Amino acid sequence: MSAPRPDFRKLSTFVRTFTPGPRALAGQVPTIAITPVADGRTGAYEGNVAGTWKMVENVYRLLTENVRLPDGTPVRVVVAPEIVYGARTAALAQQYYTEQGVSANIWVSRSWAYSDELMGASLGIGSSEWQQCAYGLNGTDRPGAVWLKAFTAAMDEKKRPIFCVYSPDLENENDPLTPHVAGRLLSFARCAAAVAEMRGKNYLSVGGVSMGIIGSDVRRNQMQQYLGMGTVSVDMCAVKGRMDAGLYDHEELEKAVAFMKTFKLDFGKGKRPQSPDALLRDCCKMTLIVRDLMIGNPRLADPAVGKKQGFKADVEYAQGANAIAAGTQGQRQWTDLFPNFDVTESVLCSSFDWNGFRAPFTVATENDAKNGIGMLVATLLTGMPQLFADIRTNWTPASIKTATGVDVSKIAPRGIIDKRNSGAGALDYAVDPRQLVKGGKTMSVQAAWDAIRADQKLQAKLMAEAVKNTTYMAAVLEYFRGDGLSSHYRTPGGIPMTAYRYNAIGDLLTCSVVEGETVELPAKVADHISQVTDKTWPETYWTPYGMTSFEYMSKIGPNHDANSFGLIGADLITLNAMLRIPVDLHNVAADKIFRPTMWDRFGGDDFRACAALGPLYA
Ligand code: MN
Repeated sequence: MSAPRPDFRKLSTFVRTFTPGPRALAGQVPTIAITPVADGRTGAYEGNVAGTWKMVENVYRLLTENVRLPDGTPVRVVVAPEIVYGARTAALAQQYYTEQGVSANIWVSRSWAYSDELMGASLGIGSSEWQQCAYGLNGTDRPGAVWLKAFTAAMDEKKRPIFCVYSPDLENENDPLTPHVAGRLLSFARCAAAVAEMRGKNYLSVGGVSMGIIGSDVRRNQMQQYLGMGTVSVDMCAVKGRMDAGLYDHEELEKAVAFMKTFKLDFGKGKRPQSPDALLRDCCKMTLIVRDLMIGNPRLADPAVGKKQGFKADVEYAQGANAIAAGTQGQRQWTDLFPNFDVTESVLCSSFDWNGFRAPFTVATENDAKNGIGMLVATLLTGMPQLFADIRTNWTPASIKTATGVDVSKIAPRGIIDKRNSGAGALDYAVDPRQLVKGGKTMSVQAAWDAIRADQKLQAKLMAEAVKNTTYMAAVLEYFRGDGLSSHYRTPGGIPMTAYRYNAIGDLLTCSVVEGETVELPAKVADHISQVTDKTWPETYWTPYGMTSFEYMSKIGPNHDANSFGLIGADLITLNAMLRIPVDLHNVAADKIFRPTMWDRFGGDDFRACAALGPLYA
């Protein structure tokens, strides 16, 4: 079949516009293939057809019902046109997958098959960028395990990492997938979807390096080679230019200002750089503008809107950077003159704004891109907003006792980290999501979050609760001469929360992942810590599992980490293996770790396996 012939006459008189797509950003919806394989021998093939398709149907149902992207889009799942049993059927599957834009593949079998030859033509159907997984049935009448081991060994020899799924216990083919098998397949699919979703999209760097923070030195080649992402860079004067030119949706600005007034607002005391109303409006304009720079805005391309609102419509400016993550430098070249980005970061990173509940944006404070990419992958894995944090202070029970006289050795025996970002934190971290959901106390955070995502009433409850628990407080002028409004709240205690951080060591990227939980300190203690640090900033007290807060403080890389409600350490380890990024520090139990079989051939040494492979897109 030939490709459609372009209409060059029409193209040569094309007038560009902004046509919104079905999703906020342009790009292929992550697509996972399921490839059934079987023994091709006459008789053996026929004997396996029904059972093999039954397995495929189970996997198909599992993925289509459970794996979705943060904006609610379900991952696309396609299956091979027929069971692959030889070189030609493998090539037909490959052709179909290419047409479908597949980027991950799950091989499924209940029987022996000529493992290496089925994917021999293409050294593993698809390119080396594809994520590969194989699920072999643990049964007795056909040797699924024999195929599985032969196949994963063939992939290892080709240095094509493959995840191996096999039930520890014998499976009954008439039963649903076992929890072990379903859990591993879902982990693979979530992580592969996250990898595919960020591929080809951009990090938007608003400004440069903030106050000498190495994390905000945006490493363009690292973004491209490890994450498959581009980088778009704009000077902060682009924000000021749009504010001055009125290049934002003025109707939406009024909505934003009215929404912000539903929060408790504390505009500070004494002489301030500008009036409360002017400050609030500036903060809202900056928020609209950073979002428009990220994802574009058709309204800015529309001359009728421009005429009505008093700006010059501009199709190029309206496009945005197709940015799936961003960072704002702020300090200090901007903040010495203008309001800080606390409203921008806190609102965009939340699950809602004046337009209602929506997928969170990823906007890193101080343009710390190496923290931003962690927030991005965690959002893609969970659909949840992420908390950017300064690793402010390590508090042992002994220092709390000395400072306040209160003994917290029973509440926080391993000590706590005061995670208090410089003014911005996703507003969702003012609420325990499990409290909102019926039966939520016995649910995982992720399950509670999924329930909220599926229910508008729960979303309204979440938004109301977050607004109620947050006070926007004027900035400390000593640090922020241009003023600003910080999102102040105190995160409730007892919520499982995972901390993570990407680090650059020369050209190598590594990741740290530590699970733990938030801590509710006695009010006297929490208030003391707040007073002696900065009471206008969002505060989250957290303790790691299986180590002291001091050990965490000592071993974590830089001054910032990011955090996700829920225990997502295992998924982060799986995702990093897919990207060939070694994990330098973690506290995830060995039986939860799911990596390609090749890692076992390197003695489980993540660094050696990743070094042998190199970054996924290098
Ligand atoms: Mn900071």
